[in-house]
Amino acid sequence: MTQTYSIAVIPGDGIGPEIISVALDTLREVSRKFDFEWAFTEAPVGGAAYDLTGDPLPPETLALCQKSDSVFLGAVGGLQYDNLPNDKRPERALLGLRSGLELFANLRPAKILPQLIESSSLKREVVEGVDLMVVRELTGGIYFGQPKGISIESNGERKGFNTMVYRESEIERIAKVAFETAIKRGKRLLSVDKANVLEVSQLWREVVSRVGKDYPQVELSHMYVDNCAMQLVRWPKQFDVIVTGNLFGDILSDEASMLTGSIGMLPSASMGLGSLGMYEPVHGSAPDIAGQDKANPLAQILSGAMMLQYSLKQPEAAKAIENAVLTVLDQGYRTGDIMSPGMKQVGCKEMGALVTDAVRSS
Ligand code: NAD
Repeated sequence: MTQTYSIAVIPGDGIGPEIISVALDTLREVSRKFDFEWAFTEAPVGGAAYDLTGDPLPPETLALCQKSDSVFLGAVGGLQYDNLPNDKRPERALLGLRSGLELFANLRPAKILPQLIESSSLKREVVEGVDLMVVRELTGGIYFGQPKGISIESNGERKGFNTMVYRESEIERIAKVAFETAIKRGKRLLSVDKANVLEVSQLWREVVSRVGKDYPQVELSHMYVDNCAMQLVRWPKQFDVIVTGNLFGDILSDEASMLTGSIGMLPSASMGLGSLGMYEPVHGSAPDIAGQDKANPLAQILSGAMMLQYSLKQPEAAKAIENAVLTVLDQGYRTGDIMSPGMKQVGCKEMGALVTDAVRSS
């Protein structure tokens, strides 16, 4: 019987619907080629959901995502929602999805494509060959730790505070994901912390080292976060897989992504213990170019490839999409964000159609 994958599709806001639409065409093409089927169900999240229901993450959407094989998300957010109370803001829906689906690991690859080396702000010899993966803990650490808040001191001065907290079990499970990821790649794992200052980092280091004993085939090392931030721009080729907590991972994964030149090229996966994952581009909803057919859909399309590889166990279909993207770039087609002299500029729809054609003719 033909395998059917049920996917919750969340276009979201801004450029989300444009890039999702062309990425779905590519996914449909690849399913024809590799003989499986999709059952896509669209649902609102973010500003689109707030406009419809007053809630950026309606319970029906969360329920749909929970019973799907995976979630395929565009982007959320927009200027018109910036003054809403915190619990109504579109970005809040992403936190709700991550915790509601128990997605505690964020996988963000940063790979330099030879065709786009000139788009990087770093020198060719520094970035050529970079291929790393940041595994960021997503549901713990300082973003969620209690106590947090803004209080008033006895002298009337206000004090803001957050708490960075990690339990052993939280460190263990993200470490396992990171070691498993390293096994599938170059078998080198770097754990990043601030153990020279923070107790929470001392525990982090101890637990990651302990988990490492179960993975003798992976070479484990440790680095302080300030040094890692520096090494990422000094010599990024030294890295294979980097595992780190929520706050450090937020910053380092953005820094790593910029090595590649354009945020429009970068996919990401959020995973839990099971096979369900949420796949989305690294970038936001880009309201400045929304509705103008200018968005680069490749990060969304490559997020589809990650979904096929990590959740749906269709590595050949994933590879077919990645190869199609390389073919189209080799042919000289570029969206505005990655445009360089001598290349052919295309819009979002045309770029998507070119990749879909390349999948069909591969
Ligand atoms: P952004 O990533 O949306 O845009 C930053 C810059 O990159 C803009 O100039 C934009 O035009 C450009 N850009 C982004 N994606 C592109 C693409 N695919 N093709 C071409 N150019 C692209 O970040 P921002 O401007 O800081 O945020 C805009 C909105 O997105 C905000 O509401 C923010 O909260 C939200 N946001 C959402 C997510 C998410 O949904 N995961 C992530 C980050 C930001």
